[in-house]
Amino acid sequence: MNIAENIKKIRETIPDSVKLIAVSKFKPVEDIQVAYNAGQRCFGENKAQEMSAKQPQLPNDLEWHFIGHLQTNKVKYIAPFVTLIHSVDNYNLLNIINKEAIKNNRILDCLLQFHIAEEETKFGFNFDEVVSMLNDTNFNELKNIRICGVMGMATFTDDQSQIRKEFSNLKSIFYKLKIKYFAGKQEFKEISMGMSDDYLIAVEEGSTMIRVGSAIFGARDYQK
Ligand SMILES: *Cc1c(COP(=O)(O)O)cnc(C)c1O
Repeated sequence: MNIAENIKKIRETIPDSVKLIAVSKFKPVEDIQVAYNAGQRCFGENKAQEMSAKQPQLPNDLEWHFIGHLQTNKVKYIAPFVTLIHSVDNYNLLNIINKEAIKNNRILDCLLQFHIAEEETKFGFNFDEVVSMLNDTNFNELKNIRICGVMGMATFTDDQSQIRKEFSNLKSIFYKLKIKYFAGKQEFKEISMGMSDDYLIAVEEGSTMIRVGSAIFGARDYQK
């Protein structure tokens, strides 16, 4: 695996305006350092303790993106340094993120994860759940979080038209929320969608952040 070469190739296929998040979960800090030396600055992890263990071993100007299912009791590990939490999927989690943000004297940027795939196994809100959350006064009392957009994962399938349809659905969810709840909020601008196998479709459908792991770092060894 030539990490630097892989990053370069992916960058060449997407517009400069799309942010590439290099998903380094299960990969050693040495691999992250190689990517960093090749100019990559944004990294994604899906386990809070893994991310907080790697963070002090790497340069300070690196952006840490949390992309996995986040348990409320793990928020404290990442709150001091995380750049963006992509995977907020319930109000209670948002409430805890807000509390940890206050403790750290930070405003924490978050995306709302939507369940757009057919598979039951994937996490995320549905549209109505988010609407009722946004209409709730409790939500407006969370002053130390900033909702910056939406995130979703397509179904794991070879059917390109289905993947496209799901990404297109996420984009329309984004615009509906933008118009009704986040008009005038400059920060509400991100659509995080697209992984190694489907990022080109995601970009065509309006993705602003792609989360790419194996196409950069190679296959993951889950046994370790
Ligand atoms: C692992 C993971 C990715 C990256 O997956 P690849 O197929 O290796 O690119 C992207 N998003 C999330 C939420 C992930 O858990």
